[in-house]
Amino acid sequence: MKVTLPDGKTIEMPDGCTAGDVAARIGPGLARAAIGARVGVGGGPARTVDLSYKLPGDCQVSILTSTADDPEALRIMRHSTAHVMAEAICTLFPETKLVYGPPVENGYYYDIDLPRRLTPDDFPAIEREMQRIVADDRPFTRYELQRAEAMKKLQAEGNPYKIDNAERAEGDVLSFYVTGAEPGKYWEDLCMGTHVPRTGRIGAFKLLSVAGAFWHGDATKQQLQRVYGTAFFSKKDLDAHLDQLEQARRRDHRRIGQELGLFTIDPLVGSGIVLWKPKGSIIRLILEEHLRAKLREAGYQPVFSPHIGRLELYRTSGHFPYYRDSQFPPLYESQTARLLNELWVAEYERPQGRPLPPQAQKLVEELKIENAAVYTQLFGDSEDADARRYDPSAERERNLALIREHLRVEDGFLLKPMNCPHHVRIYSSEPRSYKELPVRLAEFGTVYRYEQSGELSGMTRVRGFTQDDAHLFCTPEQLEPELAGCLSLTRYVLDVLGLRDYRVRIGLHDPQDPKFIQNPQGWALAEQAIRAAAAASGLAYTEEKGEAAFYGPKIDFMVKDCIGREWQLGTVQVDYNLPRRFGLEYVGRDNRPHQPIMIHRAPLGSLERFIGILIEHYEGSFPFWLSPVQVIVASISERSENYAREVGALLASRGLRTEVDDSPEKIGPKKHRARQMKAPYVAVVGEQETASRTVDLNDREGRREPRVPLDALVERLLSENRPQPPAPRGADGAASPPGR
Ligand SMILES: [Zn+2]
Ligand SMILES: [Zn+2]
Repeated sequence: MKVTLPDGKTIEMPDGCTAGDVAARIGPGLARAAIGARVGVGGGPARTVDLSYKLPGDCQVSILTSTADDPEALRIMRHSTAHVMAEAICTLFPETKLVYGPPVENGYYYDIDLPRRLTPDDFPAIEREMQRIVADDRPFTRYELQRAEAMKKLQAEGNPYKIDNAERAEGDVLSFYVTGAEPGKYWEDLCMGTHVPRTGRIGAFKLLSVAGAFWHGDATKQQLQRVYGTAFFSKKDLDAHLDQLEQARRRDHRRIGQELGLFTIDPLVGSGIVLWKPKGSIIRLILEEHLRAKLREAGYQPVFSPHIGRLELYRTSGHFPYYRDSQFPPLYESQTARLLNELWVAEYERPQGRPLPPQAQKLVEELKIENAAVYTQLFGDSEDADARRYDPSAERERNLALIREHLRVEDGFLLKPMNCPHHVRIYSSEPRSYKELPVRLAEFGTVYRYEQSGELSGMTRVRGFTQDDAHLFCTPEQLEPELAGCLSLTRYVLDVLGLRDYRVRIGLHDPQDPKFIQNPQGWALAEQAIRAAAAASGLAYTEEKGEAAFYGPKIDFMVKDCIGREWQLGTVQVDYNLPRRFGLEYVGRDNRPHQPIMIHRAPLGSLERFIGILIEHYEGSFPFWLSPVQVIVASISERSENYAREVGALLASRGLRTEVDDSPEKIGPKKHRARQMKAPYVAVVGEQETASRTVDLNDREGRREPRVPLDALVERLLSENRPQPPAPRGADGAASPPGR
């Protein structure tokens, strides 16, 4: 058989050979490093297989190795580690019933049913047992059974979870993996694979946590325990990851946000709904004000749009019902509007040529009772069948239009899931000429998305958030300079906030994939413009085919925080879809109507998520200009209280955010509390300072400067009270760590 390698070379291999044989043929080094392979046939999608997998004939093979920086190789090894952990738990606690154990991002877990509660105190024993299995260097051996035979075997073993897994698995054949040479003699698991060839190939691992979980995530089902672990090919990578986890724990914005009084999430108000407390609001306002000034400079115009809009608006934009699962349910003006809307959705989702589903038939019945007049207009009565009336066997578009006609009278509203449709209507509210383009409309617009409650987390996954949103409408010639402007604005914003380690990812469309709108000319123009803008910006960028939005190419900023985690922040997207759906126009130089191109962009994304990230990046120690409390003036004793208040009033009158601590406590505890509040400065005043009209200035890094005269203090703090220019990058190209 002919085996094609990733470099395009073809080698001849004997029929019946395995993926591992291919690795051995290429070289002994590769054979030693190999842990699995990807095999494709005839240019089809490649699947990941064991090294023992018998090649099906002519195919393409690429070998996965434990040294490569390949997420798939890590997944295979982590899944193998999950098997070893499951075996170790079963050995130590034989009453364990296993459920399932997939690899996940950064590690793996195994759900188990065990009456005894596992705690982290059990981890060392489990890890020792795992270490023993790894040292045994046993092979992972796959065997397959016909479905009936496999079910019989699982029934005999009596683990209901595995029986359920098998029932859900597809195919006539089920596979099992033995951690050892022979079935029956070693621990084994119902599993699709893939696995490393031997347990000795498992790298450095660690158990991380145990949490409650429900079977199939369903709270009415059995409560299980989910044991999380992680594994890396090298001890060094594992240590770096554990260090990052520890750092992330220390920096958790949910805890810091609580301690510093920045925000709260109140179950009575609703999960996923952020309440900004005064100190958090100050940070947000300063950010907003700074951005607003920048937007004015860059020629943006401010707009405001309210928090709801008619369903018809979102039917026109396509956001409804397409994104219905992630939206709050609509608010209806009347029962008739609800019935008509639900009927419209049922009709919208009805496959061509199929009857309306029974629930939709029920809507029709309800409508007949609720509003006989509308019902008759839509469906008529049997004797008098008007050709224009609703007919489930007719063209979908025609039926949808008929229902929509009625929805003009009574409709529903949606909590705004996107700002774009509102801005589009502001654009189209007046005739536009090429002379006034580009039109750049900016708004800190709050939007609402119905995230599943299990996915909510602090400020980073929420149900209502405010985007630093803007929409630009431009001519084709303006596209490239406008994109360049968006990029430079995003860079400015990230730089000023101390996030200086980022890369840019360009998402391009895939002409083979039907999900992308058909507009070859538009794609060509937009992708060329986006590349040119990225190249001109001097930013390092990668291109990813198939990663565009369905309506146009986009640029995402991938930003690393100071502990090396990567976040997707600023985004810039080109859109040909909404201008077409809303029939947007401008009058060109030729005096004829043309369709503008639209750009969506949000440098920070959501203020909630962004400030959550910023809290973790700075560990709560915000730069001076962003700190909710910049200076705490603390009196040493009663005798300096008045002077402390005077200094506080002076600083406040100059626009500095100041608190005066004139409590009767000793100065030690006062300074300690100021440090906990992460205030950049504590100005200590006693009798000496009162007499000399100075302060004893202490910063949060422990530096102290005695006898600073008041005018020098004011001058110095005011000069610090603005975004500092980016710190020079180190010799290694890395940005300096965030300081004050
Ligand atoms: Zn498995
Ligand atoms: Zn938008």
